[in-house]
Amino acid sequence: MIGIFGGTFDPIHLGHLRTALDVFEALELEELRFIPLGQAVHRDQPLMPASQRLALLRAAIADQPGFVADERELHQERPSYTVDTLEDLRHELGPARPLCLLLGRDAFNAFHSWHRPERILELAHLVVMDRPGHTLPDDAELQQLMDGRVVNDGAALRERPGGRILFQPVTPLGISSTDIRRRLAQGRPIRWLVPDAVLSLLMQAQD
Ligand code: ATP
Repeated sequence: MIGIFGGTFDPIHLGHLRTALDVFEALELEELRFIPLGQAVHRDQPLMPASQRLALLRAAIADQPGFVADERELHQERPSYTVDTLEDLRHELGPARPLCLLLGRDAFNAFHSWHRPERILELAHLVVMDRPGHTLPDDAELQQLMDGRVVNDGAALRERPGGRILFQPVTPLGISSTDIRRRLAQGRPIRWLVPDAVLSLLMQAQD
């Protein structure tokens, strides 16, 4: 079973990394692919250029076996839709292999407004990670997407290539890229919010 973790990673931080490792371990994933977003559809464009976000991501995951940086979205001229990336991965990995799309709770709360959420759920499972400050909203459309799909156990994800939703407990970490960007702009410390390797690269870039 393979995990896919898409994000702006502007920059990558310990809130991404520790929660991803929790899922990797709990679901015994073979591989976890970090896919940095190319052009954004749902949000402002990233502050850092793609090459820098990728360099920071690579530095962050370099010594974690099974964690892989996948740069496919960075080479696209058009905005990146998750559904297209998953179609691509399905094509590459075949129809039978279970794929798990990792999402923080905040991202999942807006999932019904993504491009073709039903198709995404045909292509992959969703693994939703708790994020401090974000609870499940009372939203009929989201509820409709969840109906009949929520499972309580990672083993249920191995039975099918996609279509199920698992709420996976992870280490709660109230870290965000927004806060890190703000701190960088104000010259305040970001130590212990990002891995040391990311900190050194960011400090070099500021010199
Ligand atoms: P920004 O503050 O710029 O919006 P972010 O910190 O939310 O950035 P993203 O790169 O946009 O980071 O997030 C990628 C994915 O990681 C999303 O699914 C998001 O919900 C999840 N995520 C980010 N930070 C955390 C965290 N601290 N705990 C759990 N999930 C997280």
